[in-house]
Amino acid sequence: MPSTPDVCAAAARRRRDAATLRIGGMTALTTIDFPGRLAAVLFCQGCPWRCGYCHNQDLLDAGVPPAIAWADVQAFLQARRGLLDGVVFSGGEPTLQAGLPGAIEAVRAEGFEVALHTAGMYPDRLAAILPRLDWIGLDLKAPLHRYEAITRVPGSGERAWESLRRWLASGVAGECRTTWHAGLFDIAELHALAQRIAALGVTHWALQACRGGGASASLGRYDIARLASHFSSFTLRTA
Ligand code: SF4
Repeated sequence: MPSTPDVCAAAARRRRDAATLRIGGMTALTTIDFPGRLAAVLFCQGCPWRCGYCHNQDLLDAGVPPAIAWADVQAFLQARRGLLDGVVFSGGEPTLQAGLPGAIEAVRAEGFEVALHTAGMYPDRLAAILPRLDWIGLDLKAPLHRYEAITRVPGSGERAWESLRRWLASGVAGECRTTWHAGLFDIAELHALAQRIAALGVTHWALQACRGGGASASLGRYDIARLASHFSSFTLRTA
């Protein structure tokens, strides 16, 4: 068992790490990003991938100065004790930052539950924090062979699929998410993807279907029913 000085030193280190977390923005209240909880969302600055459909372009550059200091986040959360259930770390890519584990610990120490939105680009870092998470939204973008064309980063698919396996092995509650339009990969590949992740153990899948690739390439009712049939929970979002 660690001694009291060791425990204090570890806590001080976590506080120091948390203070380095670069936050690019915050949503004070969400009812949809952490299922079943009232939560705040912290948007972490920086992502090394460059997906063409990214909606958070302002968060991609890791060198942008933080929009909100960690001390202000802590003050906000302390004022919301008893009003919020949890905090969502989103991005950008939260696991890019070394300060994330310390920030998770700091948030938990305030009595909040923790959710993470991630593209799974750092499987080892994800595995290290999974025991401290209450929920995860894992973005699985494509079949392995289509990944690089989407993220523009070699090896990105292997990392994301490995993160999926590690999350599923952990038993942490969550959702797998996929953004799709026919310009990314075709419907046959989408069906194969659904089958594959269901076989690996995904039970909750959210499909974000974007217009693109022409009307003939859009999802019909039969496709949607077939895709949904693999999962106990299926959400279709259209954009
Ligand atoms: S991984 Fe997410 S945050 Fe990063 S570029 Fe892709 S969509 Fe944007």
